[in-house]
Amino acid sequence: MGRDNLVPVQIPRQVLTNRQLESIADAIISLYRQRDVVPALEPVREGPWCDQMRYRGFFADLEPYEIDSIPYVIHTIERVGRLSQEERRLAIRAAGYNTFLLRSVDVTIDLLTDSGTSAMSTDQWAAYDAARATPCTSDEYRRLVHVLRDATGYQHIIPTHQGRAAEHILSQIMIKPGQIVQGNMYFTTTKLHQELAGGVFADVIVEAAHDPTSTYPWKGNIDLPKLRQIVEQHGPEQIAYISFEHSVNMAGGQPVSMDNMRAVYGLCAPLRIPVFFDATRMAENARMIQKRDPHYHDTNIRDILREMLMYGDGCTVSGKKDFLINIGGLLAFRDNAEWTYDAEHLLRIYEGNTTDGGLSAADLACISRGVEEMLDDRYIGARVRQTEALGQMLLEADIPIVTPPGSHAIFLDAKRFLPHIDQDAFPAQRLAAEIYVETGVRAMERGNVSKGRNPKTGENYRPSLELVRLTIPRRVYTRDHMRAVADGIIRVYQRREEIEGLRFVYEPEKLRFFQGRFAPIEE
Ligand SMILES: *Cc1c(COP(=O)(O)O)cnc(C)c1O
Repeated sequence: MGRDNLVPVQIPRQVLTNRQLESIADAIISLYRQRDVVPALEPVREGPWCDQMRYRGFFADLEPYEIDSIPYVIHTIERVGRLSQEERRLAIRAAGYNTFLLRSVDVTIDLLTDSGTSAMSTDQWAAYDAARATPCTSDEYRRLVHVLRDATGYQHIIPTHQGRAAEHILSQIMIKPGQIVQGNMYFTTTKLHQELAGGVFADVIVEAAHDPTSTYPWKGNIDLPKLRQIVEQHGPEQIAYISFEHSVNMAGGQPVSMDNMRAVYGLCAPLRIPVFFDATRMAENARMIQKRDPHYHDTNIRDILREMLMYGDGCTVSGKKDFLINIGGLLAFRDNAEWTYDAEHLLRIYEGNTTDGGLSAADLACISRGVEEMLDDRYIGARVRQTEALGQMLLEADIPIVTPPGSHAIFLDAKRFLPHIDQDAFPAQRLAAEIYVETGVRAMERGNVSKGRNPKTGENYRPSLELVRLTIPRRVYTRDHMRAVADGIIRVYQRREEIEGLRFVYEPEKLRFFQGRFAPIEE
């Protein structure tokens, strides 16, 4: 023995996550168990320096060990808020019990949104820095078109500065006033642009999407009988298009099945009703299909995505989510040159050149790299597993969440978490505030406050879903962070009976969740 026989395993600082270190330990253990069959090496060249040594190895039938962790390491770090619990109690009071109004530096783990919060890769930053600032038709535009045509199978690629810009243009060119747009639940900006264009929105999502306790695996699906019934009632020419969202955000990141996309397109295409995807979370939806549909277990994300998009005529995308960039969007059409002509006309008026959509060449450079990285099976698998892991930790502690766990967010069911608080005392708003005080984790309310008041009766809408949303940014947090989030929520759950409701002290007329201020009812 002696020093010459040691193998140092040296740990760089702030580079690997605890889970990666555990995986390394497991790999060593796995090798140790098989030590009797590890063959010796035979030196073939020697020298005074270890990098001069060469050995001959012999084949050994060892069990392979697959490291199960995120497929990247930490490159740059960002410090986070570290207030004490008492300081957080004062901070949330100063913010009127509204997590939107907290200072971001006072937040330790920020789960407010997954929009524009992704960590970019070194490849993306390198491309960002290297992009030449040209007025139009940059090489980066050409690359973007190439990458997106390949990823989507769509011919016409139109960059926009955000998702809502693409939604605005699509709504304006496709909707005649009075026409119906059918969609699976809705997204705020999407529905608003459809209505501004004179459209009437009809929700045709499956019923299970409205039930937080249902464990149906495809809660994003369109209900075909509902869809057919509206077409029959109004006639196909009265339907502007189908607005078909992947990984439905407002339902909790719930996926659409491949069979459902195929069936919807099969019904609509012969009637000449266009189908447009809101493909903002297309890769997460593809990953759910890979995992939950046995036909696709062995198909890679790239191929699943191509098939998904075949069942549509085009798409809008907010690049701030799955594309792993923090600004940008996309409007794309499969092959319709007329729509493309109309869309590019509006793009020039509202956005910028047809070759940049108002973005810089540097932003375009990040998008094309982000799309390539989004399609890496190991990345998207780890991404969705992380969200599911948080869901699993909460379920194991009997915390009421919307099931099954979605791909980008976990939703707490505040009606079951705080059953003693009436909905007009805003249990989800209070729960989000309490989680911040307990742990420094920022979440947001999706319930009675967000939904607003019925203008006719003046009463709160009291929606069926009273939720707190924990949204996971991409590539930012580790499994340890998720454990800390779960542990904090479990501690709040243990003292839930002491928690009281809130009342408004300032109630804005519109979108009251952004600026509204509250005080505890007991004060
Ligand atoms: C974020 C989002 C949008 C809007 O995109 P922006 O880039 O924020 O304008 C549209 N649809 C869905 C599903 C989204 O999540």
